[in-house]
Amino acid sequence: MPIRLFDSLSRESRELRPSHPDGVFRFYTCGPTVYAPAHIGNFRTFVVNDVLRRLLELEFGPDRVKHVRNLTDVDDRTIAQAKKENRPLAEITKKWTDKFHADCDALNCLRPHVEPTATGHIREQVDMIEVLMRKGHAYRAADGSVYFKITSFPEYGALSRIKERELKVTNSALDSDHKDSVSDFALWKAYKPEEDGEVQWPGPAGASAGRPGWHIECSAMSKKHLGETIDLHTGGVDLLFPHHENEIAQSQCCNGQVFARHWYHSEFLQVEAKKMSKSLGNIYTLEDLTAQGIPPMAVRYALLMGHPRKQLNFTLDSLHAAQSALKSLRTARGAIPGAGGSVDVLPPVLAALHDDLNFPGALGALFGLLNSQPPAALNAAQFDRVLFALGLDLTAAPAPAAVPAEITALADRRWTAKQAKDWATADALRKELAAAGWSMLDRKDGWSLEPLKK
Ligand code: AMP
Ligand code: ZN
Repeated sequence: MPIRLFDSLSRESRELRPSHPDGVFRFYTCGPTVYAPAHIGNFRTFVVNDVLRRLLELEFGPDRVKHVRNLTDVDDRTIAQAKKENRPLAEITKKWTDKFHADCDALNCLRPHVEPTATGHIREQVDMIEVLMRKGHAYRAADGSVYFKITSFPEYGALSRIKERELKVTNSALDSDHKDSVSDFALWKAYKPEEDGEVQWPGPAGASAGRPGWHIECSAMSKKHLGETIDLHTGGVDLLFPHHENEIAQSQCCNGQVFARHWYHSEFLQVEAKKMSKSLGNIYTLEDLTAQGIPPMAVRYALLMGHPRKQLNFTLDSLHAAQSALKSLRTARGAIPGAGGSVDVLPPVLAALHDDLNFPGALGALFGLLNSQPPAALNAAQFDRVLFALGLDLTAAPAPAAVPAEITALADRRWTAKQAKDWATADALRKELAAAGWSMLDRKDGWSLEPLKK
């Protein structure tokens, strides 16, 4: 049974198939912006994409899937954070990239085959902008920035079905200043010393020095690592407009080819039925949850409990339900002797997953079997493939020892003192940490804490 997935462009469920003669399925996911820890909403999107990646591997073979997910390491948010902390941009983005990787590992998300960075692909972005300027799809504004001219691409709006009038209202809030039309968007942003600090590169021919606009990085990096036409492009619903609409415009005007054959957008996560926001104080990171003793695998399971194209309500109850479901799976798996019996596990679960990633249907099918069959009757290899497809690692470690907030604060102060070469303060704080039972391990780019052995 082929994998069928809703396509946001044609608005229907369509089969996923590789289009390239080499048979390799080309899959691009928009990655995180690395200026802060990713929250569990971000991880909903990445876990959904991880299951998709696993299903593609099971369907086409592990060597027949190429998954690329970028890291946005230069944009307004990363630059603002570096400025706020008065640190180099690369230091900030490295810190949060490392944290993102550690969280992904804890959630058992497979690493993409290529994880390109925006700053590592300035040349490719500039090249693309120059082609767009030459072809009349982009123009230099008075300040030396470069904008994409929306009227030069009549198909603009096909993905989001946005009408021209709405477009003007929506886009006008984004960038202002020097463009011809309020709906044009920036491909290249001229350097502004008071905002950009040290961050600038030589611009496209005829433009000022500066930095790329956000959208162009995905067009340039997907082209470099996957070619001009990709089989599947994904992200959260908020990326549909303007990000993905702009990617289509840039790529298709530059390359003259269909950019992505299939678009998929998963819905947002809510916490206790509310949108996550700073003002509500309900933005949870993986660390927030593990500090409360919740194992990362239970977080992953809870993120799988809703249909990916419906909003998911993340609650404390759902985490408890996830923990008990994992316990049942662990018990059942432990009770299957050797190769197990002849009852099929894989087909009913895959049937649901292949039908537009019906996670609740898949979990329902799995637990239906567990409730109706003695574990010994289940086929062990198929059970393990189901666990692989869902990315559930039943052997994963429980949550690590929680570090109290005041200890983290001491460690932060000591790190700052050390950076400032204030050795006396750093030493005093190390003693204070030791007295509280913690040892601080320094690395070149950061630190970690371990409880002192008693
Ligand atoms: P960002 O780091 O802001 O670029 O976001 C990374 C990914 O997380 C994007 O695909 C977003 O669509 C997705 N995302 C952001 N907020 C949420 C949320 N509350 N629920 C699900 N996905 C989200
Ligand atoms: Zn993108």
